[in-house]
Amino acid sequence: MRLAILLLCGIPWLPAHGQADLVAVHGKVWTEDPKHPEAEAIAVAGHRIVAVGTDDDVMKLAGPQTRVLDLKGRRVVPGFNDAHVHFFWGGQGLASVQLTDAHSGQEFADRIAAFAKTRPAGEWIVDGNWDEQKWSPVKLPSHELIDAVTPDNPVWVQRTDGHMMLANALAMKLAGITKATPDVPGGFIGRDKDGNPTGIFKDAAKDLVERVIPPPSDAQVDAALLAAQKYALDNGVTSVQDMGFTGSHAADMQALIVRGYQRLIAEGKWKVRVSARFPLDEGARLRGLGIMTNFGDDTLVIGSLKAFADGSLGSATAWFMQPFDDQPGNSGLPTEQLSHPEEFFAKLKAADLAGNHIATHAIGDRANKTILDLYERLEKEDGPADRRLRIEHAQHLRREDIPRFAQLHVIASVQPYHCIDDGRWAETRIGHERAATTYAFRSLLDAGAVLALGTDWFVAPMNPMVTIYAATTRRTLDGKHPGGWFPEQKLTVAQSVHAYTVGSAYAESQDDIKGSLEPGKLADFDVLSDDIFHMDPVAIENVKIAATVLGGEIVRQ
Ligand SMILES: [Zn+2]
Repeated sequence: MRLAILLLCGIPWLPAHGQADLVAVHGKVWTEDPKHPEAEAIAVAGHRIVAVGTDDDVMKLAGPQTRVLDLKGRRVVPGFNDAHVHFFWGGQGLASVQLTDAHSGQEFADRIAAFAKTRPAGEWIVDGNWDEQKWSPVKLPSHELIDAVTPDNPVWVQRTDGHMMLANALAMKLAGITKATPDVPGGFIGRDKDGNPTGIFKDAAKDLVERVIPPPSDAQVDAALLAAQKYALDNGVTSVQDMGFTGSHAADMQALIVRGYQRLIAEGKWKVRVSARFPLDEGARLRGLGIMTNFGDDTLVIGSLKAFADGSLGSATAWFMQPFDDQPGNSGLPTEQLSHPEEFFAKLKAADLAGNHIATHAIGDRANKTILDLYERLEKEDGPADRRLRIEHAQHLRREDIPRFAQLHVIASVQPYHCIDDGRWAETRIGHERAATTYAFRSLLDAGAVLALGTDWFVAPMNPMVTIYAATTRRTLDGKHPGGWFPEQKLTVAQSVHAYTVGSAYAESQDDIKGSLEPGKLADFDVLSDDIFHMDPVAIENVKIAATVLGGEIVRQ
């Protein structure tokens, strides 16, 4: 009936001939539209949805030219929107040596040796994403482990969290690193008992080496981005929010990548929707050009900013109120930019007044408290506004800071996979008491905060089913918490999907065009192999993406 009335009045976005380009019928559509939460079918014209309703309603819009997608009774959800990825970085990693699942230092070295044999002399070996917590015995690597097998290739491989690196002797030589190299504020250089660098570099100290690595060529950028796009589409991810890079070269790298996106769009090779953020320090440049948040089109936008408050828990550089349980005397540290809070605040304020939305990485409880304080001050000084302030990760929170997210309208952009990954060892580092308010997704939601879901890929798999499995089961990867690690913080499947679609769209201020399936919004949706709303969440990690529609085009079936 509703549709009949619409037809009489004419349906906006429907071409004059009155026929849809695509109808998807015989499904169980989870719309995320609170007025009509479930439907059977969707009609699409161009790249937008024109109707959502019963099969009968939607078939009325089908004509001879209309393509029919038979959903075969399967579950449809809005296209997943990953609120936090490092898209090029991840794509580059797909093409490099794979170290994540090495089980020992020896296997780590063997894989680097085998990969080095395939590379020309002089080419840098990067990425890798090693995780010494998976090794037995657990032990940080040093350059000696790989020097003999990499005499001709500088090596700069990163830990899976991206906050810690291992350089080989050649990389350190090219960067001029010696025993005499002074320590760096906001960073850490690993040293042996005689003060010689071990090859380990953390956070701000990474720049010492990164400044000598040549930038990727256009061809390398394109190859990495296309690999990343394929991986996203294979996982039913239709929108990504690209957080870019860390370090002093971050802005230059992100500029190369944004040019890459534009090149691939012009060549007709690009489909995934991207919101690319630049580092906070680029605020002045965006301001100077009058570029505000979401400058661009449905496929690519820029104009939002990313700041860093601290490091990571795995690298023991997250900034806490109290020392780590396993490292007395070390309570982590703020980033270089946050160690000058007034300067940092001035940048936030300038960005805020210019209409550039801000997201800040904060892991430790002190980092989170400090950013909440600064955001509160921003609200006070600049007055109420729709700023979509975000904290990325919001990982370890003091109990009293949890309600502040809702009170201050701060979006918690969280990555549930980190919970089942770090949950294996986090209590050794921060103890039971602090772990109880770690990855406190449910408490944040119950207190009224908006959650946006993502993966932090390359750090974690960009797989929404694995993310939802992690959020709803909290079963750590080591199998030691079959009932869930701090199970009171589990999300429901419906809460997870909402945060992964509507929540993520809200976090990038694009909830007017995506997040839910309703007329006028972009036709981005996924068809799932099983109905995740009616199954044991433990099995969700095995659910497959059966088909993906992006902008009205069936991009995967
Ligand atoms: Zn990240």
